[in-house]
Amino acid sequence: MDTEISLYESAEKIHAREVDGIFDQFRNATSIILLGAYYLLPWLNWDNRQAILFDLPARKFYIFGLTFFPQDFIYLAWLLVICAVALFLATALAGRLWCGYACPQTVWINAFVWIERLAEGKRAKRIKLDKSPWTREKILRRGSKQALWVLFALWTGFVFVGYFTPVRELDNKVVTFTLGGWETFWILFYSFATYGNAGIMRAKVCKYMCPYARFQSAMFDPDSLIISYDETRGEPRGGRSRKNATRNHGLGDCIDCTLCVQACPVGIDIRDGLQYECIACAACIDACDTVMDKMDYPRGLVKYTTENNIQGKPSRIVRPRTIIYTALLVVLVTGLIGALSTRHALRMDVIRDRNALYRELSDGRIENVYTLKVLNKSEINQPLEIVVTGLPGLTVDTDPLTPIAVAVELTAITVRVKADPDQIDGGGHDISFEANSTLTADVAASSTSRFFAPITAGATGSE
Ligand code: SF4
Ligand code: SF4
Repeated sequence: MDTEISLYESAEKIHAREVDGIFDQFRNATSIILLGAYYLLPWLNWDNRQAILFDLPARKFYIFGLTFFPQDFIYLAWLLVICAVALFLATALAGRLWCGYACPQTVWINAFVWIERLAEGKRAKRIKLDKSPWTREKILRRGSKQALWVLFALWTGFVFVGYFTPVRELDNKVVTFTLGGWETFWILFYSFATYGNAGIMRAKVCKYMCPYARFQSAMFDPDSLIISYDETRGEPRGGRSRKNATRNHGLGDCIDCTLCVQACPVGIDIRDGLQYECIACAACIDACDTVMDKMDYPRGLVKYTTENNIQGKPSRIVRPRTIIYTALLVVLVTGLIGALSTRHALRMDVIRDRNALYRELSDGRIENVYTLKVLNKSEINQPLEIVVTGLPGLTVDTDPLTPIAVAVELTAITVRVKADPDQIDGGGHDISFEANSTLTADVAASSTSRFFAPITAGATGSE
């Protein structure tokens, strides 16, 4: 009888050992700054409204003093390209620096691990707890960890939705149990995603799901920073006591304590060489440096280095790919700053009256009716003067009489343009519309349309 062999091997649970060192402190600092920014930014106000708010129903994105509309999507695309090029440059120079210190997955894992330590204790205690039966202590510790994780995840989900719905209104709705269906769904969905990714799956997300982990090696070259074990110095590895720590006993500097492996959040052994699972968190450097200090050996058995350095060749920071990425980044950032600083506060579209090509008025003049859709991206109402040019003797009436482009809104203005048929030819003519703010000198928008007159008008009747 054939025996069925399972091709699935369940991954071992990883309890990363606590480390203390310069890189751990740096990672904690970046985590605190980034998490602090995430949780506090929605509460920050700017010009009497939420500083960062992506108001999807109103199709307006508020980012501090700037308001973006769907027409400004180009800026968002531009910003994403800048982020991508910045990531390419950082990767070419410093390897997976993003993964180790700034990726949201890393940052939230840090927070969840911190809660886990608070509830269940250090690594040895957690491993013991895993193996112990369900005693009162285990239920209490596990229960408090889960409760804190769920609360933290819900808070994260709430803040996430607070970037899309005014956070103070949302807060009020939560307190008064009047949350809408979609708001509830997204809070729970994002909470669940946070809990699942950072609490349960952790480094498996980096290992199996993250697309960046798959293609980042394409941005590496022999001069990119990697974390590596110094094999020539460390081998042959072997245990020894601190009393017998002198370096002339035929062994390398690695005392085979496996602390670097225990500290690794993805559970790999850096001594086996560079592996794609490595997220370059440098926990193994901190762990090994502590061991080297205790043994009175120089630090850096595991260290940041480059492939060229390992082979005894000099490393270069300035090289073709870093020059190209830097130049591209400078051009893109300068372009974006320039485009944003010269962004027009007004934008106008002209829509012709679809019901009638033209009207003949009782005084004999020809009238065409248009609707001006004026988008005011500035934070203040702009009183407008509408000017129409392109034909001799044009007169303009607007409804309302003194049109005002309302701040951060799309305003519709009806415009009646009249012409004397004796002064123009029949048929269609190109005309230009200008909306000039009477409040701010350089705030204006322009657009074009067609003016139609009966073919009997004027001399030639051109179309
Ligand atoms: S090998 Fe070192 S740097 Fe890489 S993930 Fe493990 S601990 Fe972090
Ligand atoms: S921490 Fe350092 S000494 Fe200990 S096993 Fe790892 S590389 Fe060797």
